[in-house]
Amino acid sequence: MKVYRDQSFIRPDLQAHLYSERLLDNVRALRGLCAPSTRFCAVVKANAYGHGIREVVNILKNGPVDFFAVATFYEALHIRPLVHRQSILILEPIHPAQPAEQIRACAAAGFHCVLASLEGLDWAARALAGTDRILPVHLNIETGMGRCGMPPEEAAALLTRLRSQTMLRLAGVFTHYATADEDNISFAWEQHRRFEAFLQEHRLKDRPDLLIHSCNSAATLKMPPAHYTMVRCGISMYGYYSRPMSQPPIPLKPVLKLQAPLTLIKTIKAGESVGYGRSFIAKRDTLAAIVPLGYADGYRRAFSNKAVMKLGDHFIPVIGRVCMDQLIVDVTDVPNVQTGQMVTVIDDDHQSPCGVYALAELADTICYEILTMIHAHVNRIVH
Ligand SMILES: *Cc1c(COP(=O)(O)O)cnc(C)c1O
Repeated sequence: MKVYRDQSFIRPDLQAHLYSERLLDNVRALRGLCAPSTRFCAVVKANAYGHGIREVVNILKNGPVDFFAVATFYEALHIRPLVHRQSILILEPIHPAQPAEQIRACAAAGFHCVLASLEGLDWAARALAGTDRILPVHLNIETGMGRCGMPPEEAAALLTRLRSQTMLRLAGVFTHYATADEDNISFAWEQHRRFEAFLQEHRLKDRPDLLIHSCNSAATLKMPPAHYTMVRCGISMYGYYSRPMSQPPIPLKPVLKLQAPLTLIKTIKAGESVGYGRSFIAKRDTLAAIVPLGYADGYRRAFSNKAVMKLGDHFIPVIGRVCMDQLIVDVTDVPNVQTGQMVTVIDDDHQSPCGVYALAELADTICYEILTMIHAHVNRIVH
């Protein structure tokens, strides 16, 4: 199966620095909130939240991680050669539009797959009939997320049907909270009650072979009674609370810093305009510099005339519209500016005016989106 394209390439001038120790410290801190036997599933979907999936998996594979979770089969295939000690969980439920060959490949690779419908179960059973590979499956129970879980009644029917399936092994049961990251988590607790009722009804907690999991990052931080036997953490591992928290139970450290060079320095006279649409008019003679990064690299157009970058100790404003692959910054107030100097585009500090939280606010979005938009061609440098 062809999963690489020859056009893929790296831009050495755009540098995402990844600090391994911070990633590992975050994992250790999160684990510290859990009982020692609780398994830790590192969520590395979406190119490890924009950090670089190969780099992140390579750092974590020798660390205190028991599972890797990805969104799709293709991501699982991509990291499989890197992973030896851990299992890989594919979060996308099995569905009949998936080629049977893919389900057989999951069983052969030992990937843990999600079942979220009777239709999916029948399809998986058919795909595996006559083979000698057993597929580990996790049931996704709908408790209020309203996405791809099964209502408890359908899950009950599926449990019954699973008993006669020799090619499918029940490896886990899970649910997912819709509001764990909000200030009011009463609905998350309601979901927890519904999940708990399902587990009780089917006596699933008596089965030591089962992985029972419900917590994403926010729930891991705020709902310890919901940890069960495994937690699934994404954003927190990369150093962020799902949304800024006033009194976090553990300190998390941002893992990534994005930098780019100044490639051209020029003067713009007072009264002249900068960029498309002339959205910026210089009020003074301005020393401006080009940064070869734009919205195609994941630096949002919404940052135009709003965001700042960091040059040494100075914060420099982005002026004019962010273009597809370049933008302009005002460096008038910075002494001795030279081409080739690196500016910090995304800072590794929660409080920084060019940190991920500040950028998310400017673009009216969440930190996840700022991170996952960082293009795969940005060079990842592991420290
Ligand atoms: C993405 C995802 C997670 C991780 O969520 P974070 O908020 O990043 O910790 C956990 N569970 C499921 C099912 C997910 O899809």
